[in-house]
Amino acid sequence: MISNDTIQKYKKILEEERTVLETELQKIGVRNPSNPSDWVAAKGSDEAFGADRNDNADIFEEMQDANATISKLEVRFDEVNRALGKIEEGTYGICEISGSEIEADRLEANPAARTCKAHMHQSL
Ligand SMILES: [Zn+2]
Repeated sequence: MISNDTIQKYKKILEEERTVLETELQKIGVRNPSNPSDWVAAKGSDEAFGADRNDNADIFEEMQDANATISKLEVRFDEVNRALGKIEEGTYGICEISGSEIEADRLEANPAARTCKAHMHQSL
């Protein structure tokens, strides 16, 4: 079993990471009004395209870059939130595939890990 101290240590790490991710997301994105767990590029959401075609192309490119970054941040943000949720539920550190305990060094490397080493490359 993972000790409570270890869980508290990871909880702190995860909470800090969540804050960092949220800050990063807020810099380039806004929450999708119709789905608050989804983020979209801030640019282009309201400040729409103008008459200048070159400007529009630039805005479009920036939006694409922002959306690509947001997607990556969002994946991690969800993982971190999920791990924090598991700490609340008392199921933290359990492989989602086999139900066995996740190795200590794997959690050390990634406190948001969802699977044990045997299943780390398996899609969930
Ligand atoms: Zn497993």
